[in-house]
Amino acid sequence: MKIIELPDYLANKIAAGEVVERPASVVKELVENSVDAKSSTIKIEVVEAGLQSIKITDDGIGIPRDQCKKAFLRHATSKISNESDLFHVHTLGFRGEALASIAAVSRLQVKTSTGEEAGTILELEGGTIIEESRGDARKGTEIIVNDLFYNTPARLKYMKTVHTELGHITDIVNRMAFSHPNIRFELWHNEKRIFKTSGKGDLLQIAASVYGMSAAKKMIPVKTQTLDYKIEGYIAKPEINRATRNYMTTIVNGRFIKSIALAKAITNGFHTLLPIGRQPIVVLRVEMDPILIDVNVHPTKLEVRFSKERELYQAVEEMIKKALQQETLIPSGSQTNKKKETTVQNELDLTQTSIDISRSTIPREIDQNKSALKELKLPESNYIKETEPQHIKNNQEKKQMEQQLDHEEGLVPTDEETTTDIPHHNRVPPLYPIGQHHGTYILAQNDEGLFIIDQHAAQERVKYEFFREKIGKVESQVQDLLVPLTFDFTHQEALIIEEYKEELQKVGLFLEPFGASTYVVRSHPNWFPKGEEEDVLRDIVNQLIKDKQINIHKLREEVAILMSCKRSIKANHYLNIKDMEKLLTDLRECADPFTCPHGRPIIIQFTKYEMEKMFKRVM
Ligand code: ADP
Ligand code: MG
Repeated sequence: MKIIELPDYLANKIAAGEVVERPASVVKELVENSVDAKSSTIKIEVVEAGLQSIKITDDGIGIPRDQCKKAFLRHATSKISNESDLFHVHTLGFRGEALASIAAVSRLQVKTSTGEEAGTILELEGGTIIEESRGDARKGTEIIVNDLFYNTPARLKYMKTVHTELGHITDIVNRMAFSHPNIRFELWHNEKRIFKTSGKGDLLQIAASVYGMSAAKKMIPVKTQTLDYKIEGYIAKPEINRATRNYMTTIVNGRFIKSIALAKAITNGFHTLLPIGRQPIVVLRVEMDPILIDVNVHPTKLEVRFSKERELYQAVEEMIKKALQQETLIPSGSQTNKKKETTVQNELDLTQTSIDISRSTIPREIDQNKSALKELKLPESNYIKETEPQHIKNNQEKKQMEQQLDHEEGLVPTDEETTTDIPHHNRVPPLYPIGQHHGTYILAQNDEGLFIIDQHAAQERVKYEFFREKIGKVESQVQDLLVPLTFDFTHQEALIIEEYKEELQKVGLFLEPFGASTYVVRSHPNWFPKGEEEDVLRDIVNQLIKDKQINIHKLREEVAILMSCKRSIKANHYLNIKDMEKLLTDLRECADPFTCPHGRPIIIQFTKYEMEKMFKRVM
């Protein structure tokens, strides 16, 4: 055995294995360098998803002539120089590995200038400088990475399809755009521009570029502040939703992060407004004292931990709930069908590529994918400027004005007085039933247009809110049973009941032991529906047994949903006009009248204008 020191080129090649996993990692490192160099515009051009070439052009500070070669040495960085710097890093990179690693596995050319002297051009092959010359003095840096992995065929083999690799690149650029709204980004693929942002700092505009126009159009601004956190951003109305969580973007102190708990807080905010299994579209920016966050020092890890996390999660959840409670969330009938689905499909293609497609193991030829890529329709962010923010601004202004007017008339309590518990009633305008369709839908109208209401869903919502409130109240009044009910449980179940007896008492259930695993119930809360006492009681106990660790909130929720579903009118049930009026009035009283507890829509609307358009009365 003989121990040798590895020559630089070999050491760099090994390091490259970690830093440069795929074309997207090159994009990430180079774009991060451009950000660190204080660029205001960063252009990314890739050919064949970066496998053929990656070109990054920025207008940052550039690299001085005498420093340029050094930048390609391993552990060469301008960002830290001593140990104490290590704890105050404000840049994205600092390990000084990226350029050396990327150069080691490609043919690379760099053109750079500080703008004050003639620029420098360096050409490297496999990490070795093969050419050095002078370039122009345009301030900034341009790096071209050709033939990535040409000298590491094993790595090249791991590359997936162009589609997958481009998906990863898009993902990286999207994240960078979201976390640096003041930088203009452009992404080009095979000489077609597929993404761009304005660099004007507008989150909504970036959301339009990333999530697509149709989603951005349905986004509403949210904002809140606690002692420690400042939170703002946009959430899409629940009618627009996705199958994956990839459309929840969270930026903390200017960094794209992932936090399962934060995502949970967001979805909780949408509670019962989203169909089961669907995820919201959200972009949130959180600012806080950096002391409260533990960003994992590893630069590629995105997970973070917050101290005072409860405060943050609660604020996020409540902010979203509040915002949604103030919105009228009736989807339009003419948009709920085909037209929308196709646009949604396009967006899915765009942002999900990185996640969903990479999972599919079907190998596809690069050429085949070219055509798939051609179909990628990316929204142009520049035209949203004219339409959307204006519209949202108007809305906001209108609302503010309305609130102010209400306030002056003493109709609405001030912000401080408003508790989140007070629901915003009558968010549905008055509706006048015309009749019933197929024993399932109520047709109703008002000046605004035609409304179609799913009667079962509507009643589920009404009942759900009724039960939720009832179950939520701990009533001192109980109803005594003439004949006590007896329940037999297994030994195991009895143990669980014993353990959570107090919790059961909190919802008004008093189970007295009666033998080994039998219980007697002599009374029940007043709200129990007549004739179904036994069922409801069993439901509650079953929920407890199923979930073991009792979560009283969830228990109440689930029972409320269960009961609302059981006791609602099903489809094919004749209603007379009086029944319909009653149901619509009850629905308008609901805190969340737009979706059933399972998140399905209750009402859709055809506005007067939409009707006129459909019948070509207007063009
Ligand atoms: P790190 O970013 O960790 O410092 P890199 O290998 O990515 O290491 O870059 C090495 C150095 O090269 C950086 O510290 C920086 O000084 C310089 N550099 C790289 N890219 C650029 C750029 N686009 N503009 C200006 N300087 C750059
Ligand atoms: Mg770097």
